[in-house]
Amino acid sequence: MAYKITDECISCGACEPECKNQAIKEGESIYEIDPTKCTECVGWFAAPKCAEVCPVDCCVPDASHKESKEQLLEKWKNLHPGKTPEAT
Ligand code: SF4
Repeated sequence: MAYKITDECISCGACEPECKNQAIKEGESIYEIDPTKCTECVGWFAAPKCAEVCPVDCCVPDASHKESKEQLLEKWKNLHPGKTPEAT
């Protein structure tokens, strides 16, 4: 399941450099996560990095993008062809 950033976002920008999939961008008013690039950090880390660093806990699972771990890993492989996942 991709993560999303809620309206609680204070636009501090802490999450953006932490996302190794480059899924996070500054939007018009708050930061946004591209669900086609978010793998819930599957492939990189054991837990979602953006959620870990967010000072206001506004990076949360997006129930409208339900995906299995296998699907997330498949997405990661498509984003990083030829690379070996560092964590699953
Ligand atoms: Fe990026 Fe991981 Fe956050 Fe998804 S959960 S947006 S992959 S840092």
